Amino acid sequence: MNPKEDVSLKELVRKSALLNAVKHDGKAQAGPVVGKILGEKPEYRGNVKELSAFINEVVNEVNSLSFAEQKRIVEEKWPETLVKEKSEEKHLPPLPNVADYRQIVTRFSPNPDCVLHLGSARAIVLDHEYARMYKGKFVLRFEDTDPKIKRPVTEFYDQIRKDLAWLECKPDEEYIQSDRISIYYDHAERLLKEDNAYVCTCSPEHFRQTVLEEKPCSCRTLSAEENLSRWKQMLEGGYGEGEAVLRVKTDLNHPNPAVRDWPAARVIDTGKFPHPRVGSKYKVWPLYNLACGVDDHLMGITHIIRGKEHLTNEVRQQYMYQHLGWKYPEAIHYGRLKITGATLSKSKIVQGMREGLYKSWDDPRLATFAALRRRGIQRDAIKKMIIDVGPKTSDVILSWENLYAYNRKILDPSTDRYFFVQDPIELTVRKVPKSFDVKLNLHPDYPERGFRSYRIGPHESDGSVFLWVSKKDVDASKVGTMLRLMELFNVKIEKANVYSAEGLFVSESYEEARKDRAQLIHWVPVGDDFPCAVVMPDATVIEGVAEGACRKLRADEIVQFERFGFVRIDQVNSKLIAYLAQK
Ligand SMILES: [Zn+2]
Repeated sequence: MNPKEDVSLKELVRKSALLNAVKHDGKAQAGPVVGKILGEKPEYRGNVKELSAFINEVVNEVNSLSFAEQKRIVEEKWPETLVKEKSEEKHLPPLPNVADYRQIVTRFSPNPDCVLHLGSARAIVLDHEYARMYKGKFVLRFEDTDPKIKRPVTEFYDQIRKDLAWLECKPDEEYIQSDRISIYYDHAERLLKEDNAYVCTCSPEHFRQTVLEEKPCSCRTLSAEENLSRWKQMLEGGYGEGEAVLRVKTDLNHPNPAVRDWPAARVIDTGKFPHPRVGSKYKVWPLYNLACGVDDHLMGITHIIRGKEHLTNEVRQQYMYQHLGWKYPEAIHYGRLKITGATLSKSKIVQGMREGLYKSWDDPRLATFAALRRRGIQRDAIKKMIIDVGPKTSDVILSWENLYAYNRKILDPSTDRYFFVQDPIELTVRKVPKSFDVKLNLHPDYPERGFRSYRIGPHESDGSVFLWVSKKDVDASKVGTMLRLMELFNVKIEKANVYSAEGLFVSESYEEARKDRAQLIHWVPVGDDFPCAVVMPDATVIEGVAEGACRKLRADEIVQFERFGFVRIDQVNSKLIAYLAQK
């Protein structure tokens, strides 16, 4: 049978593809779907080629939907399949060789040269979560030893602490590398004394050339005494920037030239580039692998969980660990996490701030934790998403929609609902026969949470009522049609322009509106309204009116403006300022 003509097959494939997509972050795989279909429809075994082509088509179609949309369809059509998913709370895979350590210690080690953003979430959440899972210790270490290029900024130390506190990933211990410079000096000296390091005064070009030829430069063969005296000179300011570098000895024929005799410390002109915490106290600054490698050992880090871009650093540090007679911690390297549509480049964020493109670190266009917090993205949504992705080595691409799906799960049942009318115009409804007492539940599924009520009564003089409605709900195209003012009554639109509209009361019955397929629209009573501006994720502002009950909202509360989206209340003054979390 031709698969395209088999109606029951099409439905089966679509279901299977959608379930697979929902299970795999929105990207269905054709392979498992083919397997599943062949299991259920063995008659296609002789026709796998055509079947696969057909399945590929359906899978592509399903993958073109957003994750939220896929989930919505599954929830609507096959809710029973989700019951199982709910009980299967995802857990992180176990860490290796846990039994070899008395206590598991992990660390998060940011450079405070920028605020944290979603790109750091994986390192923070995994390291913290694993420490908690094994009742271990989670260390925060500020890696601030580059006062020149990746210059730390004083305010970011606190901002990072604040972000971790918000994520509920509070560290058990905190270290700042710029406080530990003498420790790195001590280890550099030991490496020099034991002839496992040297002070190289070659030009970078010359060194690169010799090392490419797998040959030692002339500094490498100097005696330990000679090197120690060069080091002393380095510390005392005898060398300028770029004139001397401490190098750790490795195999000169290591297949990766970038590993060979890697640089461990260099001179920085802190007169010109003072460190924000220790000023120009030090002229010699440890480079990443020296400081990080020494600290991981001294701080008792048992498991390093970090991005796979650090794989080469592990290879470099292994040499130093061997020289010092230390055992290298367990290292887990996860793949890249890309979030489409989010600017996760520190340099772009910093540049945008400098040039005034972004107004603040919590500008809604940024994916900084500060911005996500301001918009009402829940920490648990971020954490759950990261834990579901786990520490796998393959690259992962997520979208805002993925994060929103997690966030919606938290916000949908927990937030109260209100009416908000964007770009309002005044609708006059004539010939309203009586007063209506409207009781609106704060949440349709939880009536016990309470309600807000409005009395919509006709004006004495002419029997009209006045309501704010949205310009996009009531325009000239609606003239002559019936609309349902939600939970109120039905109205037939007689006139509409960009400033106002007029209509005639038709009836109260919801049934009638349903039969007529009348559009349901929101409204806010004129006179019991609250001006409101919603800041959108692209930083544009939508003006409107919220219903009067919103006057009692407090800053930081999150509510759902019906048919509009979830918003976090930012300010409540003479006007409500809200930030959109998501639609
Ligand atoms: Zn040299």
